[in-house]
Amino acid sequence: MQTHDIHFVFVGNNAAVDFINTEIVSRGELVDLLQNDADLIRWARETGFDIKSRLTAGDLPAAKQLRAALKELCQARIDQRPAGRSSLVVVNQHLQNHATHEVLEADPDTGDYELVPDKAASSVTALLANLAHEGAVLLASPQATQLKRCGNPECVLIFLDTSRNQKRRWCSMDTCGNRAKVAKHYRKQTR
Ligand SMILES: [Zn+2]
Repeated sequence: MQTHDIHFVFVGNNAAVDFINTEIVSRGELVDLLQNDADLIRWARETGFDIKSRLTAGDLPAAKQLRAALKELCQARIDQRPAGRSSLVVVNQHLQNHATHEVLEADPDTGDYELVPDKAASSVTALLANLAHEGAVLLASPQATQLKRCGNPECVLIFLDTSRNQKRRWCSMDTCGNRAKVAKHYRKQTR
Protein backbone atom coordinates (compact mmCIF):
# COMPACT_ATOMS: atom_id res chain seq x y z
CA MET A 1 0.00 0.00 0.00
CA GLN A 2 1.21 3.48 -0.83
CA THR A 3 1.22 5.36 2.44
CA HIS A 4 0.84 8.73 0.77
CA ASP A 5 -2.69 7.64 -0.19
CA ILE A 6 -3.51 7.67 3.52
CA HIS A 7 -3.79 10.88 5.44
CA PHE A 8 -2.22 11.36 8.82
CA VAL A 9 -4.71 11.53 11.66
CA PHE A 10 -4.72 14.34 14.16
CA VAL A 11 -7.36 13.29 16.64
CA GLY A 12 -5.18 13.00 19.76
CA ASN A 13 -5.39 16.54 21.19
CA ASN A 14 -1.67 16.21 21.94
CA ALA A 15 1.32 16.11 19.57
CA ALA A 16 2.86 13.04 21.23
CA VAL A 17 -0.45 11.18 20.99
CA ASP A 18 -0.80 12.16 17.34
CA PHE A 19 2.73 10.86 16.80
CA ILE A 20 1.75 7.52 18.36
CA ASN A 21 -1.21 7.49 15.97
CA THR A 22 1.06 7.33 12.93
CA GLU A 23 0.47 3.59 13.20
CA ILE A 24 -3.10 2.90 12.14
CA VAL A 25 -5.28 0.00 11.13
CA SER A 26 -6.46 0.15 7.57
CA ARG A 27 -8.59 -2.64 6.08
CA GLY A 28 -7.76 -4.84 9.06
CA GLU A 29 -4.01 -4.40 8.70
CA LEU A 30 -1.62 -2.47 10.91
CA VAL A 31 -0.10 0.20 8.69
CA ASP A 32 2.93 2.28 9.60
CA LEU A 33 2.43 5.71 8.06
CA LEU A 34 6.11 6.53 8.64
CA GLN A 35 7.59 4.33 5.94
CA ASN A 36 10.43 6.60 4.95
CA ASP A 37 12.20 9.88 5.65
CA ALA A 38 9.77 11.83 3.45
CA ASP A 39 6.82 10.58 5.52
CA LEU A 40 8.48 11.79 8.72
CA ILE A 41 9.21 15.20 7.18
CA ARG A 42 5.62 15.43 5.91
CA TRP A 43 4.17 14.50 9.31
CA ALA A 44 6.45 17.03 11.02
CA ARG A 45 5.39 19.75 8.59
CA GLU A 46 1.73 19.06 9.26
CA THR A 47 2.39 19.61 12.97
CA GLY A 48 4.24 22.87 12.29
CA PHE A 49 7.83 21.59 12.32
CA ASP A 50 9.66 22.44 9.17
CA ILE A 51 12.69 20.16 9.25
CA LYS A 52 15.44 21.90 7.37
CA SER A 53 18.47 19.77 8.11
CA ARG A 54 19.07 16.66 6.05
CA LEU A 55 17.97 13.45 7.74
CA THR A 56 20.64 10.96 8.76
CA ALA A 57 20.28 7.18 8.51
CA GLY A 58 19.53 6.94 12.22
CA ASP A 59 16.72 9.52 12.34
CA LEU A 60 13.77 7.41 11.20
CA PRO A 61 14.69 4.43 13.44
CA ALA A 62 15.10 6.87 16.36
CA ALA A 63 11.68 8.36 15.62
CA LYS A 64 10.10 4.92 15.58
CA GLN A 65 11.86 3.91 18.78
CA LEU A 66 10.53 7.02 20.51
CA ARG A 67 7.08 6.38 19.10
CA ALA A 68 7.09 2.82 20.46
CA ALA A 69 8.25 4.07 23.87
CA LEU A 70 5.59 6.78 24.07
CA LYS A 71 2.99 4.26 22.96
CA GLU A 72 4.00 1.81 25.67
CA LEU A 73 3.90 4.52 28.33
CA CYS A 74 0.48 5.78 27.24
CA GLN A 75 -0.96 2.28 26.90
CA ALA A 76 0.32 1.43 30.38
CA ARG A 77 -1.26 4.60 31.71
CA ILE A 78 -4.59 3.71 30.10
CA ASP A 79 -4.38 0.24 31.64
CA GLN A 80 -3.21 1.73 34.96
CA ARG A 81 -0.14 -0.44 35.15
CA PRO A 82 3.56 0.41 35.34
CA ALA A 83 5.35 0.62 32.00
CA GLY A 84 8.58 -1.11 31.07
CA ARG A 85 11.68 0.70 32.26
CA SER A 86 13.22 0.72 28.76
CA SER A 87 10.46 3.01 27.47
CA LEU A 88 11.27 5.53 30.17
CA VAL A 89 14.95 5.38 29.26
CA VAL A 90 14.18 6.14 25.60
CA VAL A 91 11.94 9.10 26.42
CA ASN A 92 14.46 10.45 28.92
CA GLN A 93 17.23 10.25 26.32
CA HIS A 94 15.23 12.52 24.02
CA LEU A 95 14.34 14.84 26.87
CA GLN A 96 18.04 15.62 27.22
CA ASN A 97 17.87 17.31 23.83
CA HIS A 98 14.84 19.36 24.71
CA ALA A 99 15.61 23.03 24.45
CA THR A 100 13.79 25.21 26.88
CA HIS A 101 13.70 27.88 24.20
CA GLU A 102 10.09 28.86 23.72
CA VAL A 103 8.35 31.73 22.03
CA LEU A 104 5.33 33.71 23.15
CA GLU A 105 2.52 33.59 20.62
CA ALA A 106 -0.66 35.61 20.61
CA ASP A 107 -3.98 34.34 19.37
CA PRO A 108 -5.00 36.95 16.75
CA ASP A 109 -8.70 36.54 17.58
CA THR A 110 -8.78 36.40 21.35
CA GLY A 111 -5.50 38.06 22.28
CA ASP A 112 -4.71 35.12 24.54
CA TYR A 113 -1.06 34.19 24.84
CA GLU A 114 0.55 30.82 24.67
CA LEU A 115 4.14 29.75 25.28
CA VAL A 116 5.07 27.31 22.55
CA PRO A 117 8.28 25.60 21.50
CA ASP A 118 10.23 27.48 18.88
CA LYS A 119 9.58 25.43 15.76
CA ALA A 120 11.48 27.71 13.41
CA ALA A 121 14.90 26.08 13.41
CA SER A 122 13.85 22.47 13.36
CA SER A 123 15.85 19.30 13.09
CA VAL A 124 14.70 15.75 13.69
CA THR A 125 16.52 15.89 17.03
CA ALA A 126 14.49 18.95 18.03
CA LEU A 127 11.27 17.39 16.76
CA LEU A 128 11.79 14.18 18.74
CA ALA A 129 12.87 16.09 21.85
CA ASN A 130 9.73 18.17 21.58
CA LEU A 131 7.51 15.11 21.16
CA ALA A 132 9.19 13.42 24.13
CA HIS A 133 8.57 16.57 26.15
CA GLU A 134 4.90 16.85 25.11
CA GLY A 135 4.40 13.21 26.04
CA ALA A 136 6.29 13.51 29.33
CA VAL A 137 4.36 16.62 30.41
CA LEU A 138 1.12 14.83 29.62
CA LEU A 139 2.07 11.62 31.41
CA ALA A 140 3.16 13.51 34.51
CA SER A 141 -0.01 15.61 34.64
CA PRO A 142 -3.50 14.79 35.96
CA GLN A 143 -4.64 15.01 32.32
CA ALA A 144 -3.05 11.58 31.76
CA THR A 145 -6.25 10.05 33.13
CA GLN A 146 -8.00 11.43 30.05
CA LEU A 147 -6.01 9.14 27.76
CA LYS A 148 -8.33 6.67 26.08
CA ARG A 149 -8.36 4.02 23.42
CA CYS A 150 -10.82 4.24 20.57
CA GLY A 151 -13.91 2.17 21.37
CA ASN A 152 -13.59 0.19 18.16
CA PRO A 153 -11.63 -2.95 19.15
CA GLU A 154 -10.17 -3.14 15.64
CA CYS A 155 -8.80 0.40 15.87
CA VAL A 156 -5.42 1.13 17.48
CA LEU A 157 -5.78 4.88 17.85
CA ILE A 158 -5.64 6.60 21.21
CA PHE A 159 -6.64 10.12 22.16
CA LEU A 160 -6.85 12.58 24.98
CA ASP A 161 -10.50 13.06 25.89
CA THR A 162 -10.74 16.80 26.43
CA SER A 163 -14.53 16.83 26.07
CA ARG A 164 -16.30 18.47 28.98
CA ASN A 165 -18.31 15.40 30.00
CA GLN A 166 -15.46 12.91 29.35
CA LYS A 167 -17.69 10.76 27.15
CA ARG A 168 -15.67 10.68 23.97
CA ARG A 169 -15.52 7.08 22.75
CA TRP A 170 -14.16 7.19 19.24
CA CYS A 171 -11.01 8.35 17.53
CA SER A 172 -13.31 9.99 15.02
CA MET A 173 -17.06 10.14 14.52
CA ASP A 174 -16.48 9.98 10.76
CA THR A 175 -14.78 6.59 10.91
CA CYS A 176 -15.09 4.38 13.99
CA GLY A 177 -18.01 6.29 15.55
CA ASN A 178 -19.97 6.14 12.37
CA ARG A 179 -19.20 2.46 11.85
CA ALA A 180 -20.54 1.70 15.33
CA LYS A 181 -23.66 3.73 14.64
CA VAL A 182 -24.27 1.90 11.35
CA ALA A 183 -23.70 -1.50 13.01
CA LYS A 184 -26.17 -0.65 15.78
CA HIS A 185 -28.71 0.51 13.23
CA TYR A 186 -28.21 -2.67 11.21
CA ARG A 187 -28.67 -4.88 14.30
CA LYS A 188 -31.95 -3.09 15.03
CA GLN A 189 -33.15 -3.60 11.45
CA THR A 190 -32.42 -7.31 11.41
CA ARG A 191 -33.92 -8.09 14.78
ZN1 LIG B 1 -11.00 4.41 15.97
